[in-house]
Amino acid sequence: MKLKLFLVAVLTVALGATQLHAAKIRVVTTLTDLADLTRNVGGDFVEVRSLATGIEDTHGVPMKPSFVPLLNRADLVVVVGFGCEHAFLPALLEASKNPRLLEGQAGYVDCSKGVTPLEVPKSTDHSEGDVHPYGNPHYMLDPVLARTAVQNICDALVAFAPEHAADFTKNRDAYLAKLDAKITEWKTALAPFKGAKFVSYHEHWPYFAARFGLVYFNTIELKPGIDPTARHIEQLVSTMKAEHVPIVVREPQFPEKVPALIAKQTGATLIKLPIMPGGVPDTDTYVAEMDYIVHSFADALKK
Ligand SMILES: [Zn+2]
Repeated sequence: MKLKLFLVAVLTVALGATQLHAAKIRVVTTLTDLADLTRNVGGDFVEVRSLATGIEDTHGVPMKPSFVPLLNRADLVVVVGFGCEHAFLPALLEASKNPRLLEGQAGYVDCSKGVTPLEVPKSTDHSEGDVHPYGNPHYMLDPVLARTAVQNICDALVAFAPEHAADFTKNRDAYLAKLDAKITEWKTALAPFKGAKFVSYHEHWPYFAARFGLVYFNTIELKPGIDPTARHIEQLVSTMKAEHVPIVVREPQFPEKVPALIAKQTGATLIKLPIMPGGVPDTDTYVAEMDYIVHSFADALKK
């Protein structure tokens, strides 16, 4: 009898846990920054998984077989947009057979909605690379534009579970207040360095540079997604020397060799910067990532 009661108790707990689990909104994000924002807005009502871990190329997150069932069971997929994920996401969505998540459907949350893209190509000729087909998609490196992503995520959660609208709105407001305080802090930290020039490997930084008054001098890549030629590197080194460019940014997904060589030849400081949370140690949240980026720039420019 005691055993029977015990089994009933165990089953009740297990069923309760399953129901609680099932009640959560299942969200898959492509990148880790969007996962962090979704956790902040969704709170206890969401279960969030990111396809990327933080160190990957945003245009080429390696596809794992486990992504297919994950997307099959998801209620929402949250994306950067502007074609950022076009090399891996459409194929995954097709394989996952979850029509709700297809582009244009209610479960497809495009965080670029409301963001004005920079560097929109003048022609549709992709012969010179096509990783930025609709303009530069790296707007998340501008924390003011991250506010737009927060709003898009909040709108999608409210539309999916209107019964929790008050909670999502409250969480959104609390997160935006925290982010706004950090934005003020970051602007203050970089204010003394207005006009400072830098180069990076990939064209990740136009929104960041515009927000904080830095000058995005050039990229080591010839074009987004196109490796540098020897001639391009030679010209880059010579113009960097002439214009005293003090910083070379290396993003974690690119090898250190060429950026290190350019830094050495020009006397610039080489800094390794994450492009999403988890790209370097101790950057597990969006705020921690931006803190790391801002303070790395400030420290290198103080030298
Ligand atoms: Zn890119």
